[in-house]
Amino acid sequence: MKKNQIAGALGNILIVDDTPANLRLLGEFLMPLGYTVHQALNGEAALQIAETVKPDLILLDIMLPVLNGYQVCNRLKVNPATAEIPVIFLSHLDKSLDKVKAYEVGGVDYISQPFIANEIVNKVKIHLELKAAKQEIAWLKNELVAQKQKYEENLKLALDKVSALHSDRLTGLPNREFFTEFLQTALNCLKTKQGYQFSLLVVDCDRFNILNNSLGAKIGDKLLKGIVKRLKNCLNQTDILARIDEDKFGILLTDTKEGTQATEMAKQIQAAVTHPFYLQGYEVFMSVRIGVVVGNENYYQPEHLIRDADTALARSRQIGKDYYQIFDQTMKEIDSEFFQIETELRRGIKQQEFVLHYQPIIALKTGRIAGLEALVRWQHPLRGLLPPAEFISIAEETGLIDDIGKWVLREACHQLTVWQKAGLADSSLTMSVNLSARQFNQPDLIDQIDEVFAETKLNPHCLKLEITESAIMENTQAAAKVLQQLREREIQLSLDDFGIGYSSLSYLHSFPVDTIKIDKSFVGCLEDNDKNLGLVPAIMCIAKTMGMSVIAEGIESSEQLKYLRNLKCDYSQGYLFSRPLEPTKVIELIGASPRW
Ligand code: C2E
Ligand code: MG
Ligand code: MG
Repeated sequence: MKKNQIAGALGNILIVDDTPANLRLLGEFLMPLGYTVHQALNGEAALQIAETVKPDLILLDIMLPVLNGYQVCNRLKVNPATAEIPVIFLSHLDKSLDKVKAYEVGGVDYISQPFIANEIVNKVKIHLELKAAKQEIAWLKNELVAQKQKYEENLKLALDKVSALHSDRLTGLPNREFFTEFLQTALNCLKTKQGYQFSLLVVDCDRFNILNNSLGAKIGDKLLKGIVKRLKNCLNQTDILARIDEDKFGILLTDTKEGTQATEMAKQIQAAVTHPFYLQGYEVFMSVRIGVVVGNENYYQPEHLIRDADTALARSRQIGKDYYQIFDQTMKEIDSEFFQIETELRRGIKQQEFVLHYQPIIALKTGRIAGLEALVRWQHPLRGLLPPAEFISIAEETGLIDDIGKWVLREACHQLTVWQKAGLADSSLTMSVNLSARQFNQPDLIDQIDEVFAETKLNPHCLKLEITESAIMENTQAAAKVLQQLREREIQLSLDDFGIGYSSLSYLHSFPVDTIKIDKSFVGCLEDNDKNLGLVPAIMCIAKTMGMSVIAEGIESSEQLKYLRNLKCDYSQGYLFSRPLEPTKVIELIGASPRW
């Protein structure tokens, strides 16, 4: 609203009187003073002029024909266009003026005849000033309201901005940026306050994205809020909880002792989150992984704390078992090495950098080579020939073992048929191929194997698959089915590394396994007169009663061989006979028909 300027030099005045002489007289008082004067002889004319001219003041005669002054005033006051114009009543005779009524209908003053110039001029001046003052007040009031509104809007905008900068909209928790400020404060305290300790926990929700996608964002949001509620319940008042990523929370525990409190907290959180959430008729199960970092003087940046907590988190995922891990410096090296090997493995698969070496398996009764175990190696362009220990576990974790394993199976079967066709390998010679747990649990494993047989025309009886107990134990029901299908194809099965895992002999009889491979760690003890010595005969005894044959791995000395022969072990494998050899070498060896 603009501040109203009064039109005319001093103001616009409408004089209403049915006596022309009065009009003239009043006009003569006012015009010389600089007022603009409009005149009307009756009420109707007055109302019209008032509406079009919008005078600043009206001098209104009471005794008018048709509409009297009160009626005119009434009409002026109900019309918003004219309601604010001050009206001064004029009365010809004192008795025509009803003072009470004059004020009642909205008049501001009255002037009685005989008109005295001074009185007229003063009253007009005062009421014009009053009106101007009123307008000014109204304008100021409006301005004030507008300013207040603007101020409030700005304040709200600023507050929104601040809260957007500092907190997460969904949960109301501090966001990552704000959280790092808390961490910075904790780092500062560590350097200045003696005996101060703190820990950082990064809590990551497992499978949140999958849940969010399948149940919808609405339920996903509710789930997050539910998790926050449970996290809050675990915390003390001085702890800081923040949302640092879509499905990640940061917790700052202050004054902790060497991380023990942090691990306690991690356990508590895990327990709190595992109870199902009930969300809109869904029962949702959640689990979290937690990376823990204990603050120390070597940290300068909050981001590094979060980074290391993330590393610990990733580590807990790699290990697969424990839901929380405390960061230590070695993880960093493992971590970056892991990613480097993964990248190189992908390239290695593309470039076909893998080769198979074969280690003979000796039948102890005859002392002759009865089979070969295919063992994969990686011909790395820079690092040379790498043993499986350098890459198999990473290949398993990343799923790259699928491709490598398929290749190994095909290559080993293909190689044996080539040798058989060339007359270099006896038809009774077996080929053992290692299957990782992941491969074994692949739904299309049997299809893969069938395909290889179709391609290579290898007699299935020549193939032995080596699996570990843990591969079976991961899913015993599915394993039973796969083992049955393998049996139907007359493919033989060996239980690799027996003795170091579950060693659940009681389970064994329910699985159709042909051979047990006793792990080299037991064979290594054979000559040490160790307690474990007793275990080898025991395992062999049980295997025999269940109709299984036994292979002893890792024979390095003739001493060990003697023991095993005495124990009537069926087969044996180890450096004593031969290291794993490349294809040409192994054929040379077979061709020489060695006998041990
Ligand atoms: P494994 O199946 O138990 O294979 C036997 C391992 O013992 C081989 O190690 C072999 O070189 C080693 N070995 C043989 N004789 C002796 C001995 O007298 N003394 C000692 N100390 N060691 C001996 P390698 O080739 O390094 O393979 C290690 C493991 O990697 C294998 O253990 C197997 O679990 C895995 N692996 C090898 N090739 C494959 C593959 O193609 N697929 C899968 N999934 N795993 C494989
Ligand atoms: Mg093996
Ligand atoms: Mg083994």
